[in-house]
Amino acid sequence: MDCLFCKMVDREIEPDIVYEDEQVLAFNDIDPKAPTHILIVPKKHIATLNDIEEVDLALIGRLQFTAAKLAKQLGFADNGYRVVMNCNEDGGQSVYHIHMHLMGGRHFTWPAG
Ligand code: IMP
Repeated sequence: MDCLFCKMVDREIEPDIVYEDEQVLAFNDIDPKAPTHILIVPKKHIATLNDIEEVDLALIGRLQFTAAKLAKQLGFADNGYRVVMNCNEDGGQSVYHIHMHLMGGRHFTWPAG
């Protein structure tokens, strides 16, 4: 399958890993939008948020749990941070393997662009 994040999970491409377990990989975004910008990716290929199935619910919770754990470890949990998941073209998705953006280390405004 020609999927950038599957290639990272399989180590065909070596990401800058910050966390890994049996179901999740987290690595630094190549084009950071904040002092810390990490992508948290399920190892299972799921193309978009629309493709999540009931069997994936615990996995999606693990993405969010991992984001909070990393925010605490990296020291910006109390100040605050942003998590974002983009879906399809209007949502700004560019890689079609779901991922959670974890951004911290600065103040974020709302609404997002
Ligand atoms: P999306 O636009 O929500 O799909 O997010 C995709 C993210 O993947 C963007 O923030 C990109 O900067 C990031 N990205 C693309 N290629 C790479 C890479 O090779 N390594 C790390 N991050 C990447």
